[in-house]
Amino acid sequence: DPPAEKYEYQAEVSRLMDLIVHSLYSNKEVFLRELVSNASDALDKLRFLSVTEPELMKDAAELDIRVQTDKDNGIITITDTGIGMTRQELVDCLGTIAQSGTAKFLKTLKACDSKDIGGDNNLIGQFGVGFYSAFLVSDRVVVSTKSPKSDKQYVWEGEANAGSYTIREETDPEKLVPRGTRLTLYLKRDDKGFAHPEKVQKLVKNYSQFVSFPIYTWQEKGFTKEVEVDEDPAEDKKDGEDGKAEKKRKTKTVVERYWDWDLTNETKPLWLRNPKEVTTEEYNEFYKNTFNEYLDPLASSHFTTEGEVEFRSVLYVPAIAPMGKDDIVNPKTKNIRLYVKRVFISDDFDGELFPRYLSFVKGVVDSNDLPLNVSREILQESRIVRIMRKRLVRKAFDMILGISMSENRDDYDKFWENFGKHLKLGCIEDRENHKRIAPLLRFFSSQSEEEFISLDEYVENMKPEQKDVYYIASDSLTSARNTPFLERLLEKDFEVLFLVDPIDEVAIQNLKSYKEKNFVDISKEDLDLGDKNEEKEKEMKQEYGKTCEWIKKRLGDKVASVQISNRLSTSPCVLVSGKFGWSANMERLMKAQTV
Ligand code: ADP
Ligand code: MG
Repeated sequence: DPPAEKYEYQAEVSRLMDLIVHSLYSNKEVFLRELVSNASDALDKLRFLSVTEPELMKDAAELDIRVQTDKDNGIITITDTGIGMTRQELVDCLGTIAQSGTAKFLKTLKACDSKDIGGDNNLIGQFGVGFYSAFLVSDRVVVSTKSPKSDKQYVWEGEANAGSYTIREETDPEKLVPRGTRLTLYLKRDDKGFAHPEKVQKLVKNYSQFVSFPIYTWQEKGFTKEVEVDEDPAEDKKDGEDGKAEKKRKTKTVVERYWDWDLTNETKPLWLRNPKEVTTEEYNEFYKNTFNEYLDPLASSHFTTEGEVEFRSVLYVPAIAPMGKDDIVNPKTKNIRLYVKRVFISDDFDGELFPRYLSFVKGVVDSNDLPLNVSREILQESRIVRIMRKRLVRKAFDMILGISMSENRDDYDKFWENFGKHLKLGCIEDRENHKRIAPLLRFFSSQSEEEFISLDEYVENMKPEQKDVYYIASDSLTSARNTPFLERLLEKDFEVLFLVDPIDEVAIQNLKSYKEKNFVDISKEDLDLGDKNEEKEKEMKQEYGKTCEWIKKRLGDKVASVQISNRLSTSPCVLVSGKFGWSANMERLMKAQTV
């Protein structure tokens, strides 16, 4: 036999393994969800690749997942007939961390106290640590895998307390498979309970019911049958003595036991079911399963569109924004899973199905109108995809609007806190949907510094003589509240929006107006509060014209001009921005960026 080769884990993996093995994590059972989801991913990959390379499927094994338990020895095996791994892939996938979920987990770890890992905050459960979660319950893990790209089958073997793993060739003829992966978990002494067939069945039903490939678990089954039994043999004898008396027979019901594979999950995709028959719990479970999420979503929407383009979709708004840095800037969040005729195609989009600023919306989309071998280029140019995108966006906005109209104001506050920035970005990037975005925006104002208000609430609260929507952009509520620009507006009881988030001002400027009312920056020159008194202004100009000239002379280039204005009530003077220039706030932001 060729010898097993020893490899060291990448440093991050060692660290992660250490955390997993030593954590007091109570919800260990997630390991099965993680491993089954990897099996499902491997089957998805195979099915997708086989569209263009049919020979990948030539070894005609069914596409399924099988979980077998040996409770006496505390062993679980998980077998799939998916894409498998080559030797190099074993090293890349199971010895380093390049993968999204786990990488995200590590990033979060860096940002917080290690005490939180296994305790109440349950970070492991929140992110899923993928393959390595096998070590939550196992002392030793053996992965035997055959990729159609390789003519050899390889065995990866790792132990819970080692910094290294080995890879060797599979030589046991009994274990050779045409394709796919088998994981064998040798459970820790205290975790052997997971190797009970009923336990595994329950976990699959709980965590993996929506996996779109059949999952079989090895179960003991029984059927009853009637058997004929002889009656008391003693009596028989007696009868016998009587010579040829009839033998008395009796029937009895017995249970015949045997072991067999049991289909344990529901394989009909959720999105194909009738929305009326799907419960909220089922939508939530599907979401958590499909996107490896830990919290229930804030909202969901399940719909079918017909006509020009037909597709089915379930969309979700997550409860929290993903951890880590700006997903706005890096929108490849694998948020939308595209299926064509039930075959998973891709979740690697860059704005083709959803605009970037909506990349927080997650969901599945299944179309019958796209070709199975659809490529990135086709997606980008397809008219069908453009129509789908439009409909998806509309549905996403309906769903968000639904949250905003919820009885429970907290829901939308939560949404806004997590995804408000995304919508503001939408004001800048998606002119076409201004009408849908604007009603969803929220701001503080001179009359509401504690609670956000909507633009509708603002308009509702406008004075009869008020024409415009007023705002002041500033770096904090305090400075917004104390600006002299406010004086006259407060006097007239006009509400003023306080734009304190750096992106607010640009967003508002892009919107330009709401319900035919213009947004007006109260710090700009020419502020017209609808109460111009030309007579009086003329008088003032005459009276103070000389003073203005004098001040301008003293200040020189520091100001563009010095003017009489009616915009103040108690302050003697104020610095305003030119009509076409940057506002003071914008100037501050620009300066901050160039430093
Ligand atoms: P993720 O699933 O987020 O990629 P995991 O740690 O769960 O991260 O898995 C790491 C990688 O190992 C997968 O991306 C995949 O390439 C490979 N892998 C794991 N399990 C299997 C399997 N059953 N069949 C094929 N490849 C697998
Ligand atoms: Mg995984």
